[in-house]
Amino acid sequence: MNRCRICKGELSKELLVLKNVPAAAQNMPATREELCADKGIDLALCQCLNCGVLQHTAPPVPYYREVIRASGVSEAMKHFRLEQFSSWVKRYDLIGKKVFEAGCGRGEYLALMNASGVTACGTEFSDSGIIACRQQDLQVFKTFFDTGEETMPQAPYDGFFILNFLEHIPDIPAFLTGIRKNLKENAPGIIEVPNLDMILANAQLTEYSCEHIYYFTAANLTAMLQNHGFDVISCRSVWHDYIISAEVIKRKAVDLSSCHAVRQELTAQIHHFAAQCGKCAFWGAGHQALTTLALTGMDRKKICFVADSSPEKQNRFTFTTHIPIVAPEALADDDIDGVIVACGGYSDEVAGLVTQRFSQIRHLAILRENKLEIIK
Ligand SMILES: [Zn+2]
Repeated sequence: MNRCRICKGELSKELLVLKNVPAAAQNMPATREELCADKGIDLALCQCLNCGVLQHTAPPVPYYREVIRASGVSEAMKHFRLEQFSSWVKRYDLIGKKVFEAGCGRGEYLALMNASGVTACGTEFSDSGIIACRQQDLQVFKTFFDTGEETMPQAPYDGFFILNFLEHIPDIPAFLTGIRKNLKENAPGIIEVPNLDMILANAQLTEYSCEHIYYFTAANLTAMLQNHGFDVISCRSVWHDYIISAEVIKRKAVDLSSCHAVRQELTAQIHHFAAQCGKCAFWGAGHQALTTLALTGMDRKKICFVADSSPEKQNRFTFTTHIPIVAPEALADDDIDGVIVACGGYSDEVAGLVTQRFSQIRHLAILRENKLEIIK
């Protein structure tokens, strides 16, 4: 069974088969031998039942690593790009910083990006593209993100762009990993692909070609990018609806650093509370209570036992801290004068019970999320 090349999900049945269509779009046959060797292919389109991306199941064209923009860039396109690039550069504060274009071809867009106030370089795989870039003094590196492990010279970069190339790439997850690896945290990017929303609306069957493995709607592109390490800031159609243009940011890891301070504070609170008591017990052997005991360095000397009403937990010991777990009746012991209640949503009810039933308890506290609330 064919699987989605992006997420390995199951593919739908063939939704459309285009019979005997060209097997390539570049390097057309010129000689008798090449004409004899040239055969059409059947291009079958399937949709991933998991991620929803429409894709063909034929092998990638042999030159998929190379960017070939046969038509160059028209005056209108030049104008559009200049405006788009300079607005992007200003919005993300990139002036004077370095960005790269993944798949820069003959450098058609590099010069325009440079003109927007950044230092732009490109990755390219085709030797003719690399030569053309160097002839224009544009900086280019021969690389293609096949595995995601590729490191570019001068990395990490402050931003990137990839224009109408992603849909050619068989292993998009590896390619996007490679892009991310060469970026600083929070680096912005522009990602553009042909607009499947328009292709569908107009039933433009000639837009399906062997070179384009994938066809994205704005929704599919957004979801795919979010699943591969980017936050999508915007995703809209541009250039007379032909192109979907997404602005993204390399996702920053969530910040858990405040947890250290919370742990220190909670540890100080619990130790201070236990030190006030002659003998201190815990009530509650749920996961929050057990983790609290472990993270705050409690042991049998500081907490004499953990009370819990569940018979399945009684006559056992807490994980890692090895404090005995007993029935709540044990709190009747006259020596026990302090209790920390850690029963989540039942804590108030349990604290009420402690006050009613065990009058010798002079110190009572409730563990609320990550701090101790002193009741008495
Ligand atoms: Zn998929």
